[in-house]
Amino acid sequence: MNEHRLIANWQQVNEQVTQAYVQANDLITDQKRVTRSASDVILLAVSKTKPADMIAILARQGQRDFGENYLQEAIEKIKTLQGQPEAASIVWHYIGHVQRNKTRDIAENFDWVQTLERDIIAKRLNDQRPTDMPPLNVLIQLNIDDEESKSGCRPEDLPDLIATIKDYERLQLRGLMIIPAKSNTDAFKRTKMLFEKTKQEHPDLEAWDTLSMGMSNDMAAAIANGSTMVRVGTAIFGARD
Ligand SMILES: *Cc1c(COP(=O)(O)O)cnc(C)c1O
Repeated sequence: MNEHRLIANWQQVNEQVTQAYVQANDLITDQKRVTRSASDVILLAVSKTKPADMIAILARQGQRDFGENYLQEAIEKIKTLQGQPEAASIVWHYIGHVQRNKTRDIAENFDWVQTLERDIIAKRLNDQRPTDMPPLNVLIQLNIDDEESKSGCRPEDLPDLIATIKDYERLQLRGLMIIPAKSNTDAFKRTKMLFEKTKQEHPDLEAWDTLSMGMSNDMAAAIANGSTMVRVGTAIFGARD
């Protein structure tokens, strides 16, 4: 994909996010008044399997948050981009499954982990987060549809996991993440309810502000139901091999 096309895709997705937000919140729809800053929804550009130079191109346009699933590949890209000024403000999100023996690499290289699902992993990330870095931002991945095949914390186990993670000083608990069964509006609604319930029950969770739900094809429904972060790969970078 050439640079022009990549930027055009990214701009289009940005506009879709803004429009969905505007509609969901009944904001003024006068095009001229709706700028990107009108939206409180963060666009996470999912760059897995895509080269570092595509990330650099979007970073130059102002894209800040990037999501990666494959650790080795991600670390290579992070290192490649580290020296480049336009990449200095990139915020890296780990969105792949966290294996127990990979926690150190994650703790040392990422700003966020969106796929936390059990205490043993949280404890390791907390212990291994370098002291010269800010606390690692974490989202609990919720298995909202209680699917056998899916990772994620079961809704009934959520209160215990939150209570545990809250005490880890090197982790900053930010909210919830889901990958629903299909385009499932009900899953969005139930997750939003759990999100709000947790906020009420834990007023001391000061940074509890992120609900990561919605991807390329269910972005608008997720935003209408309170998503604060959508994760989009294909619609920006094109199909993956
Ligand atoms: C790959 C991935 C995405 C992006 O999916 P697309 O269909 O390419 O938009 C979003 N979230 C997670 C957790 C992913 O692994």
